[in-house]
Amino acid sequence: MIGGDAAGMSAASQARRLKGPDELEIVAFERGNFTSYSACGIPYWVGGDVTDRDRLIARTPEEHRARDIDLRLRTEVTELDLARQRVRARDVDSGAESWTPYDKLVIATGARPIRPDMPGADAPGVHGVQTLDDGQELLDSLARTRGRRAVVVGAGYIGVEMAEALINRGYQVTVVNRGSEPMSTLDPDMGRLVHEAMEGLGITMVNDAEVTKILTGDDGRVRAVATQDREYPADVVVLGIGVRPETTLAQAAGLPLGTHGGLLTDRSMRVRGHEEIWAGGDCVEVLDLVSGQERHIALGTHANKHGQVIGTNVGGGYATFPGVVGTAVSKVCDLEIARTGLREKDARRVGLRFEAVTIESTSRAGYYPNASPMTVKMLAEHRTGRLLGVQIVGREGAGKRVDIAAVALTAGMTAEQMTTLDLGYAPPFSPVWDPVLVAARKAAAKVRSSL
Ligand SMILES: Cc1cc2nc3c(=O)[nH]c(=O)nc-3n(C[C@H](O)[C@H](O)[C@H](O)COP(=O)(O)OP(=O)(O)OC[C@H]3O[C@@H](n4cnc5c(N)ncnc54)[C@H](O)[C@@H]3O)c2cc1C
Repeated sequence: MIGGDAAGMSAASQARRLKGPDELEIVAFERGNFTSYSACGIPYWVGGDVTDRDRLIARTPEEHRARDIDLRLRTEVTELDLARQRVRARDVDSGAESWTPYDKLVIATGARPIRPDMPGADAPGVHGVQTLDDGQELLDSLARTRGRRAVVVGAGYIGVEMAEALINRGYQVTVVNRGSEPMSTLDPDMGRLVHEAMEGLGITMVNDAEVTKILTGDDGRVRAVATQDREYPADVVVLGIGVRPETTLAQAAGLPLGTHGGLLTDRSMRVRGHEEIWAGGDCVEVLDLVSGQERHIALGTHANKHGQVIGTNVGGGYATFPGVVGTAVSKVCDLEIARTGLREKDARRVGLRFEAVTIESTSRAGYYPNASPMTVKMLAEHRTGRLLGVQIVGREGAGKRVDIAAVALTAGMTAEQMTTLDLGYAPPFSPVWDPVLVAARKAAAKVRSSL
């Protein structure tokens, strides 16, 4: 197993459940200091909702070793020798190298964060948030910094979650974003709602802005972020500008990569054309069941499922991963943001004509205390009415409502079929017509009227 986090150690644990140490020897290489940790929890740890870093570790190296997994921490795999079925690994501390043979190989090397290639990008006070070590460095940096101005570069979900973390720490936060609106995984009209809500939270949102330089003071520490036309003073900078699949080793070994740079696998997560090699997590591309195309989506929810499938297959069982519908949920303070399926531009790209509707509803019955507004956008295919995508922005209760749509998408339902879904109702939980059903009714009507 190469990579000791979600995909790699899920695979190792599942394989071990199926085969004991006499039948299957498992060696896992991890170049970092931790195993099975939740990067997803970093924003909440940095923001102070989670106070103990160790709560983000699902299973420690010792726990893995107790299950007869030969875990080699701080050991980086530097080469795959496919012809001789062996990997070369280097001890990060001593530099010592050795070869380890394999019968079955699992690549779970994750993704690497995109770092801007510009002056100042490595200056003290500029932080990524990919690993627990990154989170700790950021917390140490915040503790050292007397100023209270933070700039977050990037307004994807990691950028907005980090904006929240810094607000919670009492920082004045500016988010500098290359796109026209935050959350480019939404259509811009829905991203606009996120933008307005972030400003309502006191976050300064700067869109259509390309960071050109990170400026440092006399002490070498960051002092500002420069865009094409302005400087934004910063005592600390957090980078959240996306990730790419970490496939350096795979590429050097000639394994098949897709157009997004991720490894290509079959349904059993076996690397295409390689019987004895599996790959999963952020280093692979996944099949988007709605568009029928391969995509790179770096999410822990997929990585864990891939690991489970790989572990089952490596352990002699049979499992497959069918693909994804593209569901994701995040939040910035009390604003919940969710999406599943295709955006307008995704649908156009694959040649699907659609009807789009947007509705305003509330999280609870209008008369019930604390009912808050919720916006649901739905895309249904022209003529057939097949559900293509849903985006939801609102307060408490908005985010996980997207799961209704995720199930409907997976089941291939039409907007019309969705209107009759037997969803739970009581005034504290939703209006009598749930906001998702209101959107489905409107989408179904639009499809009918366009026939
Ligand atoms: C701040 C943040 C918030 C997130 N929030 C969410 C969320 O809310 N929901 C969600 O679904 N996902 C979220 N994610 C994404 C999620 O964390 C990842 O999708 C998930 O960790 C991927 O698991 P993985 O095992 O594929 O890769 P990784 O977790 O990246 O693990 C890969 C491991 O491989 C090791 N490695 C790489 N190359 C080598 C090598 N050559 N030799 C040895 N070891 C190597 C790395 O050190 C790393 O530990 C978040 C990520 C971040 C950074």
